[in-house]
Amino acid sequence: MPDLIHLLPDSIANQIAAGEVIQRPASVVKELVENSIDAGASYIRIGIKDAGRTLIQVIDDGKGMSGTDVRMAFERHATSKIKEVNDLFGLTTMGFRGEALPSIAAISQVEVKSRRDEDELGTLLVINGSRLEKQEFISCAAGTSVSVKNIFFNVPARRKFLKSNETERRNIFSEIERIVLVNPHIAFTLIENDIETLHLPKTSLRQRIVQLEGKNVSQQLIEIEEETTLGKIYGYVARPEFARKGRVNQFFFVNNRFIRHPYFHRAVMTAFEPLIAANEKPEYYIYFQVNPDTIDVNIHPTKTEVKFENEQALWPILMVTVKESLGKFNAIPSIDFDTNDAPEIPIFDPSRSATMPRLNVNPDYNPFHNPHSERQSPSPPAFGWEQLYQGFEKEKEVTPEEDIHLQSVLFNASGPNHDHPETELYPEHYQYKQKYILTSVKSGLMIIDQHKAHIRILFDKYLEQIRHRKGVSQRVLFPEVLELSAAEAATLPSLMDDLEALGFELSNLGNNSFAVQGVPSEIENVDASLLIRTMIGKSMETGSDVKAEIQEAMALSLASLTAIPYGRVLTSEEMLLIVSQLFVSKTPTYTPDGQRVISMLSDADIEKKMK
Ligand code: ADP
Ligand code: MG
Repeated sequence: MPDLIHLLPDSIANQIAAGEVIQRPASVVKELVENSIDAGASYIRIGIKDAGRTLIQVIDDGKGMSGTDVRMAFERHATSKIKEVNDLFGLTTMGFRGEALPSIAAISQVEVKSRRDEDELGTLLVINGSRLEKQEFISCAAGTSVSVKNIFFNVPARRKFLKSNETERRNIFSEIERIVLVNPHIAFTLIENDIETLHLPKTSLRQRIVQLEGKNVSQQLIEIEEETTLGKIYGYVARPEFARKGRVNQFFFVNNRFIRHPYFHRAVMTAFEPLIAANEKPEYYIYFQVNPDTIDVNIHPTKTEVKFENEQALWPILMVTVKESLGKFNAIPSIDFDTNDAPEIPIFDPSRSATMPRLNVNPDYNPFHNPHSERQSPSPPAFGWEQLYQGFEKEKEVTPEEDIHLQSVLFNASGPNHDHPETELYPEHYQYKQKYILTSVKSGLMIIDQHKAHIRILFDKYLEQIRHRKGVSQRVLFPEVLELSAAEAATLPSLMDDLEALGFELSNLGNNSFAVQGVPSEIENVDASLLIRTMIGKSMETGSDVKAEIQEAMALSLASLTAIPYGRVLTSEEMLLIVSQLFVSKTPTYTPDGQRVISMLSDADIEKKMK
């Protein structure tokens, strides 16, 4: 019997190893751009076709390579960056393992052109799935250009697992974002399918953040800076009033490398905690410069966790630094004790004799029918009224069976009191702490959260509008300009259809700016840019390719932002409308994200308490 063990051919070994370094087009972008930075480039141009599936090209004006070096660069563990093991502890370069180029070449078709300034001719190298196809002298610009074509062409299983173009682009963007945020002194451009989508001239750190995230961030940034024997901490945090619920930028970098650090994240959150609501997230861009031998960089190339030797000692320094900056820049608002939540007690005037309050009711009014007749209501409330009615008009017809069921759920078994026509014929609704609607039902007292109930109602409505393209657009007189970050702008096209279905009309002004020409007719007075950015953020957060999930995320964020807030005084008509519309929903008891809308205090509970 022959021996069984044999060495794998290099090409297969490389392909297996490549899986560790190169998982998706974004990993190629990261590795190539980092090489350009290590080569001292001052300008880096990134070209992408089909979200990196067909082409990723990185061109730099760095120091270039000699003919031998170009060839050597594709050997596994060939690197110019370390020579001995001790070098590992003083690293100042992004790469050092010498794995990226051979890994990339193992799973794609690579073409490199490179020339050192001092050489007259450069080198062209073509490698196809680890196989050297061509090496020759050519005349080319000083610096290096690497083209990576047809990623995973020879690893169909991996190619199949690439996500949608939107997801792959998003990943590319976030890699680029992490790199450009530590290299403001380098100019970058990104060209996607021959269109320039990112143009970042060299600038200061603050301006780089602004270039990336849009002009409106500028006023939000508060500088932080602290130098200690353990290292330097600097960067920016956004003022607490700009903390948001959805996706926000939270970046840590150590020695110019993006890292995740849940422990340091807690330090920042501790500083922000008294200033923001529990579910809001503050933005931050925080940079550490520490002695390279106090962090463990000998990490896996795709991992972003880094171990600091002085973590415990750095934690309070970071916390206090952020806290002090927030204080120094007067970011701490005067604290308003929440009188909002206190029950409203009318002032008793003993000189006036009390009179029985009179209720003006329309005994013919039925919340389930004939919504148009109510449009002539005498005093339309400032907010929510229109939305309530609009939702109402578009509701499905209620069948007689449902009607009976709903009535019995909603209303006392005793029914209308015909002996006293002046008293309330429908159940009375009582607003408690401008937060809950209390109503007496057959089996007890029903407590309805006004904000969440409206979220449920609007969510159902917006989802219906998206799915059936029913939204009505209202042209705006003075279009607002929406300035998106590069990552947001990259996500927008995939949402455009649904945004239009809701009634938004956007026109592209270039440079990641859009004019908001039309908004859904029912949300006229709400900040349209905020709505759109929140929807983009939400759908980025879901990280899903599934259309239905993205649509739900959009409908939910729009509903949450436009729903009647807490603290709003509701008229009896509004309360009646909310309650009746809520029960048209198939799932009135919970919001789409699982928060309780309705709670019951049963007769038995009440009886027990009264004993
Ligand atoms: P590493 O970056 O870990 O050293 P790579 O496989 O990414 O490994 O690159 C191998 C070597 O090729 C680098 O050490 C560097 O000497 C050279 N190299 C790669 N890209 C460039 C570039 N854009 N300009 C100059 N030299 C480069
Ligand atoms: Mg490298």
